[in-house]
Amino acid sequence: MKTKPPVVVIGGGHAGVEAAAAAARMGCDVVLLTLDPDSLVRLSCNPAIGGIGKGHLVREIDALGGVMGLAADLGGIHFRVLNSSRGSAVQGPRAQQDYDRYPGIVRGILSQYPNLEIVAGEAGSLSIENGRVVGVQTCNGQNYPCDAVVLTTGTFLRGRMYQGEQETEGGRVGETAAAEMSHSLVACGVRLDRFKTGTPPRLVAESIDTSQFEPQPGDESPVPFSFSHLASEFQPALPQTLTHLAKTGAAVHRIVRENLHRSPLYTGRIKSLGPRYCPSFEDKVVKFSDKPGHLLHLEPMGLEHPWVYVNGLSTSLPPEAQTELVASIEGLERAQIARFGYAVEYDYVPPTQLTNALEVRALPGLFLAGQICGTTGYEEAAGLGLIAGVNAALSAMGKGPWIPDRLQSYLGVMVTDLTTTGVLEPYRMFTSRAEMRLSLSADTADARLTSLGESLGLVPRSQAERSERRWAQLNDTLALLECGALLRGPRSNTPADRIRKGEAGDDYLAHIPLTSFDKRTVLSLVQYRGYLEREQRETARLRDLERVRVPEEFAFELVPGLSHEVRQRLCEVRPTSLSQAARIPGINPASLTVLAAAIVKQRRAI
Ligand code: FAD
Repeated sequence: MKTKPPVVVIGGGHAGVEAAAAAARMGCDVVLLTLDPDSLVRLSCNPAIGGIGKGHLVREIDALGGVMGLAADLGGIHFRVLNSSRGSAVQGPRAQQDYDRYPGIVRGILSQYPNLEIVAGEAGSLSIENGRVVGVQTCNGQNYPCDAVVLTTGTFLRGRMYQGEQETEGGRVGETAAAEMSHSLVACGVRLDRFKTGTPPRLVAESIDTSQFEPQPGDESPVPFSFSHLASEFQPALPQTLTHLAKTGAAVHRIVRENLHRSPLYTGRIKSLGPRYCPSFEDKVVKFSDKPGHLLHLEPMGLEHPWVYVNGLSTSLPPEAQTELVASIEGLERAQIARFGYAVEYDYVPPTQLTNALEVRALPGLFLAGQICGTTGYEEAAGLGLIAGVNAALSAMGKGPWIPDRLQSYLGVMVTDLTTTGVLEPYRMFTSRAEMRLSLSADTADARLTSLGESLGLVPRSQAERSERRWAQLNDTLALLECGALLRGPRSNTPADRIRKGEAGDDYLAHIPLTSFDKRTVLSLVQYRGYLEREQRETARLRDLERVRVPEEFAFELVPGLSHEVRQRLCEVRPTSLSQAARIPGINPASLTVLAAAIVKQRRAI
């Protein structure tokens, strides 16, 4: 009898690595099969991790023992908390990464997993027995029998790259596409669709006179991602660097407009949709034509890397137009392009075909994560990877799934959004997607998730203990601030009251005896206490709705009183609770009442 059920993860990107590491932490033997092990966790686009919503995901991954936060702390060369002047719910830790070092750091972390093997190869098809996935076959005939598979192919499935009129096959510049797996999925009854994404040109660092631009230093006191690094004592492992701010103007926009007839986005050669919140530069010029200029961030790709990433200039115009465009940006007149920007179109699986555990309904034993589920971004991919890895491990062990709770985590928000609502464009995380965003601030991720991670076997006792100590210390401090024992003042006006009245200054921060929290968070927790309490009451109400479970084999198609469209949507999504049903577009309160009555009636009949 096998002591460790095997899991195969296909794809060594951000989703694949987190999936493999999670399944390995839970005790499974894992094979990570990837096209090119040298391109493990390549930062395909922007060399940065985190941001608003995305930084929240990184903290949650870390709270569950994942890789990304730890690696980003070690590879960071420019740390900045975005939105730092606003409440903690919307503050997003972000760190520019050293493009060359980041993969090595991740590889170093993975080398500590003795039961995780990285293998080179292209997965071509899935082996199916009795309707269940039982293995993976590579294009060169290798066979990997297993109990569960996680598929994380990023932008590689039938990937096509575009640069002006030029069109080539590939998942990423310099890397081949993977077509076989698309055919295998379709043959198994999985529906595919196409999305696109794009990337800006990279410039030769030496050819840029940075004195022409406004420098953007990182935070004076860098804030780490990982809860294993004490906030007040954190020192980045690498020297820190500057980014610079540039701006486009009328001349640049004119060049874009003159070349639109050569842009694959505007000639109709790219038909699929890209991320609306990360638009191509062509789109910015056309859709926001009233704007005289757009900001660009010049971000070094590493301490010794010879290139600079031009954040905000994603384009698939032909190379000549890109050269002209860059030369017309003030301060970049002499800049040389090291690599031209391009767009890539690829297959993804519309995620309403997945359960909340990220398992393909038509193919039990197959879990999906990352860009293949219709998302965009490293952090979204890594978060989904962790969830899929856990569920693949649970499935291989013959256990029930773990469904992340939407009211407890952004991971839960992302999964339910994807599987319930589906996607019309590549999905990226925003704090506005969460109903309970005050309760889901990045700083509270370990309080929300680490003990759960321990019960799943993802987190060792030592990490759970560290989190418990951290929160005990914080709660003591909050209590002292509330009662006036700390930073004494008149009884009627406790330090907490003064914080809430906006009278707290740096003197308060200096007196707060915490090392494991960013002190701004403490102020924020005090300041927003009333709102947090209100949100907790609302959470309790939503949980009541969540408790109304839909029986597993419930026949949505037979519920009288529902319209044909509503029945169809319910059959497609198969919500597991009334609250999930409530989030399906087109399900109005009246349909929900009918559904609730039908569930109760069926229960009585059993
Ligand atoms: P990837 O990181 O792409 O990894 C996929 C992995 O699967 C690779 O290691 C590949 O080798 C492997 N693989 C594929 N097929 C097979 C197979 N059949 N067998 C074995 N291995 C296989 N994100 C943003 O947030 N904003 C952006 O603006 C943005 N722009 C982008 C522009 C470009 C050109 C590209 C390529 C990506 C861009 N991204 C952007 C997306 C970001 O890179 C991805 O969201 C993220 O990397 C997805 O992670 P993943 O793990 O799903 O896939």
